[in-house]
Amino acid sequence: MKDTLKHQGLRNKLVETISAKGITDENVLGAIGSIPRHFFMDSGFLDYAYQDKAFPIAADQTISQPYTVAFQTELLQIKPSDKILEIGTGSGYQTAVLCKMGAKVYSIERQHELFKKTSKFLPKIGYRAKKLIFGDGYKGLPEEAPFKGIIVTAGAPFVPKPLLAQLEVGGRLVIPVGQEVQTMTLFIRKGPKDFEKHEFGDFRFVPMLEDKN
Ligand code: SAH
Repeated sequence: MKDTLKHQGLRNKLVETISAKGITDENVLGAIGSIPRHFFMDSGFLDYAYQDKAFPIAADQTISQPYTVAFQTELLQIKPSDKILEIGTGSGYQTAVLCKMGAKVYSIERQHELFKKTSKFLPKIGYRAKKLIFGDGYKGLPEEAPFKGIIVTAGAPFVPKPLLAQLEVGGRLVIPVGQEVQTMTLFIRKGPKDFEKHEFGDFRFVPMLEDKN
């Protein structure tokens, strides 16, 4: 796969589009401007890679819309070397954005096919997560907790308690909550039992599923 000047041009346009939609974090915009999103999509769909749209990947899943990736990442307020847990590795695009911003990334995927494909592919194009895990995101990753940030990239029917429990004090959980349509929700841990909740409007994700494989 090649990353050409034409791709870079399309990426610059995409960055303009999502910044016009309200994304202001320069580090987020910088990551989206530098990561070749077309590498994350099957070869037949290269023309779609730089539209601000979600797109089908393998195993009936989707690569999230760039604006949504940017919106969720902005809410995390990442600083270099923050320990971040992602639920729903999928294509690995969001994982790459987090790596590019200097986070130490742990990412869980429950579809074995996607887990295998993305685990091989991400390091090949230079994005090294701390750990990619085949497992159930509802449980989080207790052995690596606490996290500075947790990002869920599938629609959660409810907020899994383990994810709140695995946040450090001051940490942020970004999770789309709901069935057909999800409300983007941010929890900030203020103390051992104290969570602040903020809501940010409607988004649509593929559903977060339990008990597969
Ligand atoms: N971040 C991905 C988005 C993929 S879509 C990207 O940018 O491409 C959501 C992903 O969540 C899918 O790959 C799906 O298989 C995964 N998923 C769904 N339920 C899950 C669960 N319980 N645990 C971990 N991953 C899950």
